Amino acid sequence: MTVPPGPTEPSEPSLPPHEPNRDMPTEAYGGAGVPDAFGRLWTPHRLAYIQGAGKPTGPGAHEGCPFCVAPTLSDEEALIVARGALVYAILNLYPYNSGHVLICPYRHLADYTELSAVESAEFGDFTTRAIRALRSASGPHGFNIGMNLGSVAGAGIAAHLHQHVVPRWGGDTNFMPVVGRTKVLPQLLADTRKLLADAWPGG
Ligand SMILES: [Zn+2]
Repeated sequence: MTVPPGPTEPSEPSLPPHEPNRDMPTEAYGGAGVPDAFGRLWTPHRLAYIQGAGKPTGPGAHEGCPFCVAPTLSDEEALIVARGALVYAILNLYPYNSGHVLICPYRHLADYTELSAVESAEFGDFTTRAIRALRSASGPHGFNIGMNLGSVAGAGIAAHLHQHVVPRWGGDTNFMPVVGRTKVLPQLLADTRKLLADAWPGG
């Protein structure tokens, strides 16, 4: 299974069905104004990452990594849904569907096998909580869940492990790549974050 790209992964070539070139206007969604609208809509939220993540902030290889920077921002700025002891849940800036969540360890590590036992446990627990929060908040019919390990596998930010949790609804494959561009506005992302944060299971 391939899963859609992470927060700053706009140009991953191998991730259907939300591969960015397909994200551009299609015959089903024509209109000259669309590319401009797309850029304006996304720029503010991308900026939150770019300001902190677009350039190295220190000598370490992980400094400037968006998944390392995000937890240093407020939940609202970074679109973080929930924070655990060792992992956190964040909205994908380039969601395939509304509510597309990424589970990330705080530690900058690339491979699933590098997770410690306790990190792995919380990683799994957060995946479960994300599913429950999404079910409670928006009643999806199914989910795509998984990781792309390595750039060759489609990971845009291969250096920092992240698990995709993508809610699915019947028929969404046909219209969501198009409609999603229209309905996944920054305000909706903020709303989605609040919705999921409120629905996030405790304890
Ligand atoms: Zn990182």
